[in-house]
Amino acid sequence: MQDELRDYLIKDEPYYRPVADEIELYEAAYSVRMPMMLKGPTGCGKTRFVEYMAWKLNKPLITVACNEDMTASDLVGRFLLDANGTRWQDGPLAMAARHGAICYLDEVVEARQDTTVVIHPLTDNRRVLPLERKGELIQAHPDFQVVISYNPGYQSLMKDLKQSTKQRFGALDFNYPAHDLESEIVAHETGVSLDVASKLVSVAERARNLKGHGLDEGISTRMLVYAGSLIHKGVAPLAACRMALVRPITDDPDMRDALDAAVTTFF
Ligand code: ADP
Repeated sequence: MQDELRDYLIKDEPYYRPVADEIELYEAAYSVRMPMMLKGPTGCGKTRFVEYMAWKLNKPLITVACNEDMTASDLVGRFLLDANGTRWQDGPLAMAARHGAICYLDEVVEARQDTTVVIHPLTDNRRVLPLERKGELIQAHPDFQVVISYNPGYQSLMKDLKQSTKQRFGALDFNYPAHDLESEIVAHETGVSLDVASKLVSVAERARNLKGHGLDEGISTRMLVYAGSLIHKGVAPLAACRMALVRPITDDPDMRDALDAAVTTFF
C-alpha cells in the first residue's frame, strides 16, 4: 500500500452495533465494488458504519464532508505553486481512486450538482476519473469504492440528487435504532447505566414524533451520546438534556417547553 494511504487505515475496531443485515449486505456490495448510498437522518450511525466496514475490510477510508462551496477541483485536485514551479496535488477522490481507498462523501446533497457529476465516470463500469487540467485519466484501483451519505429529510427540488446520480448506487436505509438497541449504544458510548440511557432514548422518541409538526429533525443518537456523556461527567440530567437535546434543535419557545416537559417526565 502507498505510504500516503497508511494514515487512512482504521487501526482499532470501531464500536458498531449492527441493526439488521447491513454488514453482510455491504460486504457483498463491496465484493462487486458497487458504489453505495447510505440514506437516513443525521446522527443515526452512517459514518460509524462506514468506519466499521473500512476497518473490517482492511481498506483505507478517505472522508469528505460535502458543502455547497465545494468545487470539482476540491475533489479531483489542482496545480499548486511551490518553489520549483507548479506541482499537481491529487484531491481526496483522485487519491482514493489512484491508490485504492473507500471514498466517503458525507452529505453529498450539500454539494452542487456540477460537483457531484465528477463521480459519474467512477461509478459505472468505466471506473475512471479524468483529470482534465492535468491531462490524465486515472483508472481506478481495484480496491476503490465510492460511498455517499444522503439525508432524504432535507430533500427539496433544489437539493436532491439527480436520477442519473442516484441510479449509480446501491442503497442501504438507516434510521434511529429500536429502543433497546439505541439504549445499549448510548450506554456503551457514554458510560451511563442502561436505565439512564433508556430514559434518554424515551425523550428522543417524543421529539421524533414531533418531526414535521414544528420540528425539522428529531433528536439524533449523536445528541443522546452528548447528553449521556454530560450526565456521566456529573451534570444534572435536566440541565444535560436541555443543553444537549432541546436547545440545539429548536428556537421556538412553545416547542422548547414541550420538549422540556418531556425531559421532566423521564428524569
Ligand atoms: P451520521 O448518520 O450522521 O453519519 P454517526 O455515524 O456520526 O451519524 O452517528 C452518531 C453517533 O451515534 C456515533 O458517533 C455513535 O456514537 C452513535 N451510533 C449510532 N448508531 C450506532 C450503531 N449502530 N453502533 C454504534 N454507534 C452508533
